[in-house]
Amino acid sequence: MTDPEPVPTDLGALGADERRALLTALPKTDLHCHLDGSLRVATVAELAADPAVRALATKLGYALPEDTSEGHLRRVLSPGLGCSSLEEYLLAFDVICGVLQTREALARAAYELALDAAAENVWYLEVRFAPQRHIHADLPGLEVLRAVDEGLRRAERETGGRIQTAILVCAMRNYHESIGDYHRRVRDVFPYATPRELGALCSRAAARLAVEAKRAGVERVVGFDLAGAEANFPPSHHREAFSWCIDNFLNITVHAGEGYGPASIQEAVTYLNAQRIGHGTRILEEGDGLLTYLRDRRVAVEVCLTSNLQTKAIASLDQHPFRRFLAEEVRATLCTDNRMVSDITMTDEYELAQRHFGLTPRELRKTVLYGFKASFVPYARRRHLLLAAKARLRELGLGGQWTRAEEEALAAWKDGALAPA
Ligand SMILES: [Zn+2]
Repeated sequence: MTDPEPVPTDLGALGADERRALLTALPKTDLHCHLDGSLRVATVAELAADPAVRALATKLGYALPEDTSEGHLRRVLSPGLGCSSLEEYLLAFDVICGVLQTREALARAAYELALDAAAENVWYLEVRFAPQRHIHADLPGLEVLRAVDEGLRRAERETGGRIQTAILVCAMRNYHESIGDYHRRVRDVFPYATPRELGALCSRAAARLAVEAKRAGVERVVGFDLAGAEANFPPSHHREAFSWCIDNFLNITVHAGEGYGPASIQEAVTYLNAQRIGHGTRILEEGDGLLTYLRDRRVAVEVCLTSNLQTKAIASLDQHPFRRFLAEEVRATLCTDNRMVSDITMTDEYELAQRHFGLTPRELRKTVLYGFKASFVPYARRRHLLLAAKARLRELGLGGQWTRAEEEALAAWKDGALAPA
């Protein structure tokens, strides 16, 4: 083992380049990353200029922009903090879903996302998306999931197992026909159903698809999530969908406490049995009870700082509960949410957190390890990754004593012993 340079107690004392190099080298996880928000802009530009892709998008009701230059699309797809309205934010997803209606495009998007994450030492990535946004007459749900699984598998293989990946199937909280062709067809079949009834119907169908995919051998499908507008669409509307997933041993994470207050988080853990909460940003609005509950039960929080600023879930990072999470030992880890739409990497999120919250080496180490502990990877692999990550952190000078098991795990990771066949 090479002797690491000692890391100062105050990471802020490192020069900007040194700090960036350390954060890039960290073995990271990204447990909250949306496929459709995390493509390469150049790939969207290439797909949007393809006449066959455009014809299919038009047929399915998507309006792709006439100007498909990378510069123009970067402004549309990565509005960043300059995003002026919700409409502008949603426009990005409309364009992205418009180009992701084929097996090839889905596989490519997943493959490139995993490669980009691996390049900055994300060792474990959970990719989430709503398959129903990509289903149409020529593309059934199982094929949608198989395409993404295949793209991820290829990236794992080509990186020699330096990244491992999983898929979370998202159901949408809210029903709206603009979500896609699938939702429009459901409305046509049930013309007198209310939006709430249609929403519950679609989430149940998404749950069935997730379970069927697992049974059919799409091995990366490990969990189920609820995404979309929170206000007026509480988790309780979707209990049946989640019961089906729990009965069939899928893991559960739920977007909550981002666009709505603590009640949404409470329902996510009490009604839907969430093992993790996406965001949890507004958890402290009604006291500390819920925070204590999450901490004591080791319910993990997927913290997405830049995304929270961009969607105006918080006005500034000073309002974010991340510092409390650290102090109270809540199992909170950092995630990107949408790499392209927010124009960020996992390293950027660590840098933002380090800069704003002044993370100590111990807090940095803990945040990294929480990501591995909260991952939905099967236990044996999770333990192996955790050991290897501990050893790598030690190599980087970030605390902890060596154990033989950690050393062996890191050696196996470096040899690519975890790469899929
Ligand atoms: Zn999200």
